[in-house]
Amino acid sequence: MNNNDIWKKTKEWLISSDLVEPNVYDEYIKIAELKELSDDEKVIIVKSELSKWYLNTISDQLKEKIAEITGKFTNLTLLTKDEFKKELEIKSLVSLKKQKSLQNIYSFENFITGSSNINALNAAKSAINNLGTKWNPLFIYGDSGLGKTHLLKAISSEVVKNDENLNVKYFTSSDFRKNILDSLMDGFKEIEMTKTKMNDIDVILIDDIQFLANSGKTNEIFFNIFNSFVESNKQIVLSSDKFPEQLNGFDKRMVSRFSQGLSVRIEKLDNETSLNIIDYKCKIANIKLSQESKKYISSFFGTDVRKIEGIINKIEFYFIQNKHDSEELINIDKISKILEDYSFAPGGEITVQKIKDVVAQNYGVSIKSIDSGLRVQNVVKARHVAMYLTGEILKKNYSEIGLAFGGKDHTTVLNAYNKINKFLKDDKLFKATLKKIKKDIVS
Ligand code: ADP
Ligand code: MG
Repeated sequence: MNNNDIWKKTKEWLISSDLVEPNVYDEYIKIAELKELSDDEKVIIVKSELSKWYLNTISDQLKEKIAEITGKFTNLTLLTKDEFKKELEIKSLVSLKKQKSLQNIYSFENFITGSSNINALNAAKSAINNLGTKWNPLFIYGDSGLGKTHLLKAISSEVVKNDENLNVKYFTSSDFRKNILDSLMDGFKEIEMTKTKMNDIDVILIDDIQFLANSGKTNEIFFNIFNSFVESNKQIVLSSDKFPEQLNGFDKRMVSRFSQGLSVRIEKLDNETSLNIIDYKCKIANIKLSQESKKYISSFFGTDVRKIEGIINKIEFYFIQNKHDSEELINIDKISKILEDYSFAPGGEITVQKIKDVVAQNYGVSIKSIDSGLRVQNVVKARHVAMYLTGEILKKNYSEIGLAFGGKDHTTVLNAYNKINKFLKDDKLFKATLKKIKKDIVS
């Protein structure tokens, strides 16, 4: 039974009882509503403090009646509309926080894999199974937002889980540097103490070592620590945004040490991995996206997990603010509306060049390929879209468009137009995509 029905029955009972005067009922109770804050908390939403006061005098009886109707005892609170709104907001923020803190536990289990990152995960596991002996150092590299920190922290907790006696230490490079700099400032004794402290560590993980580049004395000490770790078969795990050989600002001998173990790259997300991650993050955020919506997010924001998380947060907040039912399946129209303010447009006056630029970025192809005669599917699609939008936005005719696209015939442009019009009719995802690209161009 829903709250409306429960409340209707309760009111019928109230009228027939002699608990309230008819004029009090009409003035203060008739228009009140029954809602739910949680499984065991119902709320009567009232118009004024006065209604609250009246209802308060009979709240025990109301509670009992509602329990009788529903077969379940719940708390009952009296709130005005605004108070109820606040309560809901607080509640959703609290639950959001809870989800977030769960999300922040970095583990192998919540590291979602696909072909772009499975090698890194396997290398991490293999290093753990052969601590200090096989892959030393383990060097994980890749662009920002692809899960390097996640993996390092997961390794660190996994190692401790396997053997709690091990002293495992995770450093961000700035913490590491600060540690060493502090000891340098405090003189020889401190340096020795720091070295001893480092020697007590069994497994060391240093994140983003590119930030340790060009740091003179710190580097030298880092090098010493590094060597003593390798010599005593203690595991080192490093991460960086670049392949060791491409790291500038380190001694050659250091760079060659970095790559003496195993270097694995986390690649930019492929489609499959990106969709898997979107699935997972939606599950955690308790939002339901249609398959089309997932593809849409993946095609525009799916190269970087941090971006995906940002988008999912945005959708989640939108839903909290608008008090939508989390059971609702979010379709592509709504997604494109929520994400309207995300734009990759370079700004400035609209030119054919800008159109090509934005389309090329969106489809992940080069501008040159758009102008070429290349018949690769993605390129052809991008070319057709760019031609179509050039006509739509800049009001050029087929011949002019052909000319602007590497001197193509007007029938080629006509053909592009026909294709796009057909897609627009048949394919909702494409329609939303085109709308977004257009917005990127004109905004
Ligand atoms: P990086 O250190 O490479 O810049 P992070 O490890 O900080 O990236 O990852 C950014 C965010 O994305 C983190 O919240 C992380 O938990 C999440 N993340 C990255 N890769 C994955 C993955 N494969 N599965 C689940 N979450 C991931
Ligand atoms: Mg990181």
